[in-house]
Amino acid sequence: MPVKNRFAELLPEITAWRRDFHEHPELLFDVHRTAAKVADLLRQFGCDEVVEGIGRTGVVGVIRGKTDTTGRVVGLRADMDALPIIEQTGVPYASKTPGKMHACGHDGHTAMLLGAAKYLAETRNFDGTTVVIFQPAEEGGGGGREMVADGMMDRWGIQEVYGMHNMPGIPVGHFAIRKGALMAAADQFDITVTGKGGHAAKPHDCVDTTVVAAHIIVALQTIASRNVDPLKQVVVSVCTVETDSTAHNVIPQVVKMKGTVRTMDHKVQDFVETRISEIVSGTALALGATATVNYTRGYPVTINAEENTDYAVEVARQVSGHVDPDTAPLMGAEDFSFMLNERPGAYIFVGNGDTAMVHHPAYNFDDNVIPFGASWYAGMVESRMPAA
Ligand SMILES: [Zn+2]
Ligand SMILES: [Zn+2]
Repeated sequence: MPVKNRFAELLPEITAWRRDFHEHPELLFDVHRTAAKVADLLRQFGCDEVVEGIGRTGVVGVIRGKTDTTGRVVGLRADMDALPIIEQTGVPYASKTPGKMHACGHDGHTAMLLGAAKYLAETRNFDGTTVVIFQPAEEGGGGGREMVADGMMDRWGIQEVYGMHNMPGIPVGHFAIRKGALMAAADQFDITVTGKGGHAAKPHDCVDTTVVAAHIIVALQTIASRNVDPLKQVVVSVCTVETDSTAHNVIPQVVKMKGTVRTMDHKVQDFVETRISEIVSGTALALGATATVNYTRGYPVTINAEENTDYAVEVARQVSGHVDPDTAPLMGAEDFSFMLNERPGAYIFVGNGDTAMVHHPAYNFDDNVIPFGASWYAGMVESRMPAA
């Protein structure tokens, strides 16, 4: 099963969908046009069931195989949302909405899964049921979490689930994946330090919150450098510092800080959450201030199940012959993790070649990726549910 010939024939059509999505980017859950087009196409393909409005604006399509002797159900997932970026690609099909752009290639993911759905609905050469999942709000809104919370997994009896993301820097036609943690959990924290503001020439009459904040920032760096096992991955970054003083000579009463935590392991995640709280309150106490931490958990770790990763590698190998089965994990986070927490499955990278990185204003999805990505999606179905 190399790249399926049918996808060579479908390439102009799939490319046209991709470029249409690219021209009309939509953000977070506000993907009404995209979702409507996806649902329309799925109906045209003859999907057995098409349901809109799952997880607010997600779309689910069901394609039954020629036979169903085993009751197997495989889910395939793509994301539909764009980013708040001003596009600088200069392509003729560039965004028609200034300030919105498909800078993460979700236009390509949606088009490739549509292509696979069209092929699967035509051929139905499998024994079981395929569920194609188009999710909103991958870029920070938790659309995957919403679809899961909406009962999608149980409603369609999904038993295993597969996702894909394009990756600049990996050659087109090459795949990369790893077992276990592939992408990080992304949490965020808000710290508020309260002291006693006053005249900057009379620090002894104040509790200087800027000094307390500075000590906290430095002390937080000891979590990664001194507390967590050096063989485990962790990032603790303070990204925003804001005081209520705008003057050269006023010590602020309050300093607020915001930051992010990235971890690859639940135990490390729990530990870091506790340690941040201890460091912040202990440092504030030592320096005579008070401080609070608001710690919010975001996307969980994206964990590829061992067996399902093997299946994904095998199909990628059949599609192109080029797959790195042990790629380095990334500290970015992925909303597909909510689906992988519910069902075993795998998430794979497909090369986007030598382009700007995702989230860059000059990034563009390479349409030459389409035959590889669509073949992999369809191949997962035919290999996990071989025709009876
Ligand atoms: Zn992104
Ligand atoms: Zn993305």
